[in-house]
Amino acid sequence: MKREFAVIGLGRFGGSICRELSEEGMEVLAIDTQEEKVNEFKEIASHAVIADAQDEKVLKELGIRNIDHVIVAIGDNIQASILTTLMLKELGIKKITVKAQNDYHEKVLNKIGADQVVHPERDMGRRIAHSIISNNILDHLELSDDHSIVEVKAGTKMIGQNLVDLDIRANYGCNVVAIKHGKTNEINVSPMATEVIEPGDILIVIGADKDISRFEKHLVVDDE
Ligand code: ATP
Repeated sequence: MKREFAVIGLGRFGGSICRELSEEGMEVLAIDTQEEKVNEFKEIASHAVIADAQDEKVLKELGIRNIDHVIVAIGDNIQASILTTLMLKELGIKKITVKAQNDYHEKVLNKIGADQVVHPERDMGRRIAHSIISNNILDHLELSDDHSIVEVKAGTKMIGQNLVDLDIRANYGCNVVAIKHGKTNEINVSPMATEVIEPGDILIVIGADKDISRFEKHLVVDDE
């Protein structure tokens, strides 16, 4: 059975979610107050309607209650974003994802019970900052305020050593959860301690931010 989604606000962020979900074959109800935005999504989404999501009556008429997951991607109008989220919550929507504009907005959304609050500009900024620090840091994903998972190219200091030699857990407090071997393209999840790291290998490491930061400084960042 197809899953049903609604995307409220068809700016760059909401529009991109709507496009991607539709391409993946999902049922998507696209909502925006602006006619031209809605017209843009008429051929893409299953249904595209002009509506103000702050209006509870309109939301009910659109049958929003039957939708599994609603994405609120109203950007600049923080009040509209909060009111819409509150209304969706009161209507009993199972899963609500909301884009936050700033930290205060995020706090309020968490308080009123949004299931997932995303902050795409801030998160992408952080990820890019990490990859700018070193060509060896390929990606950085936040798991919580103080824990992350990073994808790093093996630094020169790691080459030819195994996980016992490097003793990353004891020395830095973080864990190597997978190694992707550059030569074979094979991914080894939960690698053996005896596995030797070769040039071109990629390590997936999980841990506290402060520990990952030490690990990156000492073992990943080569003098470029
Ligand atoms: P992005 O950063 O994703 O590009 P944007 O800058 O386009 O977003 P906004 O223009 O603030 O963000 O809002 C996103 C969309 O939400 C706009 O197309 C806007 O018309 C729509 N929108 C704003 N308020 C409402 C509302 N109450 N109901 C439905 N749609 C709304």
